[in-house]
Amino acid sequence: MAKGFDKDRERKGKVSYFGKDLTRRAKSSCELCEASNQKLGVYEVPPVEEEPVFEQCLFICENCRKILGSIEDADENELRFLNSAVWSEVPIVKALAVHILKKIKDRYIWASELLETVYIDEEVEELLNKITL
Ligand SMILES: [Zn+2]
Repeated sequence: MAKGFDKDRERKGKVSYFGKDLTRRAKSSCELCEASNQKLGVYEVPPVEEEPVFEQCLFICENCRKILGSIEDADENELRFLNSAVWSEVPIVKALAVHILKKIKDRYIWASELLETVYIDEEVEELLNKITL
């Protein structure tokens, strides 16, 4: 039990360490919806590996975190951020945006149209195939 706790604490330490580099990458705005002046936190795109992986982490606002927790219940307007997120130069941001678009493409025409215009390179494809959200 104690061992598990230490491991958990050690892991949390590593993830929060990522926060510094993520802050720089995100330029203090949510990497999904681009909101600034929001409290941002590290979000690990599932599957969450035993050893945290920087390339699978996002820096996002509380609202986006909530949306990611229940994409099925999200309002159409709450998902509009995908319009720009899908063009992100950060591979995991792009991969996650494509992943969500695939989930909602049968619900919204704009989502399926957007998917058709997006070019997915190898790096993004690899991340995309991993996501289990
Ligand atoms: Zn956000």
